[in-house]
Amino acid sequence: MDMESVAPEAAPIPPVAVQPLQVVEDDRMCVRCGYNLRTLLLDSNCPECAAPVSNSFLSDELEFSHPEWVNWLARGVGMGCIGVALFILLMVLAITEAITKTPAAIVYYTFLFYIPMLLMMLGAISFTKAETSRKEATPDPKPRRFARVVVVIWTSMTIGSLMFNLAWRYIAITSAVNSVLHVVSLLNTVLALAIFPALLLYARHIARRSSSPRLETWARVLFIMHVILTTTTLLGMCYLIVTSGRAGSGVMRDGLAGVLGCYGAVTMLFTFVFAVLLYSALRTDRTSARNFWRSMDHATQTN
Ligand SMILES: [Zn+2]
Repeated sequence: MDMESVAPEAAPIPPVAVQPLQVVEDDRMCVRCGYNLRTLLLDSNCPECAAPVSNSFLSDELEFSHPEWVNWLARGVGMGCIGVALFILLMVLAITEAITKTPAAIVYYTFLFYIPMLLMMLGAISFTKAETSRKEATPDPKPRRFARVVVVIWTSMTIGSLMFNLAWRYIAITSAVNSVLHVVSLLNTVLALAIFPALLLYARHIARRSSSPRLETWARVLFIMHVILTTTTLLGMCYLIVTSGRAGSGVMRDGLAGVLGCYGAVTMLFTFVFAVLLYSALRTDRTSARNFWRSMDHATQTN
């Protein structure tokens, strides 16, 4: 900038004696309203919302985060818990029903399984919602964006498959439609298997910031368990496709399905316990965050 032309007569401004640490030197958004606090004094208040500037320098723990966003997290995990519990219940019912071999049960369960799936999807969408207000203060974590993308694709595909299940009687199934359906159902299976590792990666990040940080270790162990489950299931599927029709493949198939089923059940059960614990931690954080926000409101009123 050409200073000469702006103020040629102005006397040079003497440097102001301030401690460099007392001034916000970088772009820092107000934790409450998003106002850029750069150049403001650390012990002053935000000119937009009157929240103390120092509040925007607190750790990224959930108890200091936006209560509405923490509520989205808690609600998401809560819905996921109900979804997983219902899913396990339906699995148990489906297995017992399969033993009694009721032919109508298959169609019946195909539709019933959409209820926990939709609950889990709504929960996952709520859980992966972008952070409000602190978004600029701490960068949007990559695991959140990754989980969000997987969740959105999986949700659209599952809703698509539900629509198809409702309408297939009225559609002419040509060989082209059939090929598309096979590809979609394979992609949907792969995505359904990827959804838990993706969500757990983000849950690790959330657990670290929660009132129960030891849950981060849980999330890490569960992530590995789910990756093993995903990989072995995919390899098993490939193996079955390659060996289908060969002599003795039926015994192998039953054995493989049994082992994978047991491992999957254990993994899901642990995931459920983890989700319940995370839900309880997030509820605590939601209360703390509400109290923290209320204290800022109080500060605003007394100022
Ligand atoms: Zn503000």
